[in-house]
Amino acid sequence: MTHEHFHPHLTPDEIELWAQGLLGAAGALHLAECRDCLAHAERERKLVLELARLPRFAPEFGFDDRVMTHVRVPTPSGDFRA
Ligand SMILES: [Zn+2]
Repeated sequence: MTHEHFHPHLTPDEIELWAQGLLGAAGALHLAECRDCLAHAERERKLVLELARLPRFAPEFGFDDRVMTHVRVPTPSGDFRA
């Protein structure tokens, strides 16, 4: 039970990285040894998975862009000084 000397506890940032599969081997090794961090990490990963599974609330970005283009279009700069 000397895992504290092996690697410091993971920071919230590191746990978030781990949940996204981006954490390095050292952090992952600590998780394998440390129940506290593992419990925290599992909670974080559940959250990430749930967020990823959420239906999209917002319309697609492309759709938004097209609408914005149409809104801006009716001001042709050519006719302005005629
Ligand atoms: Zn730990």
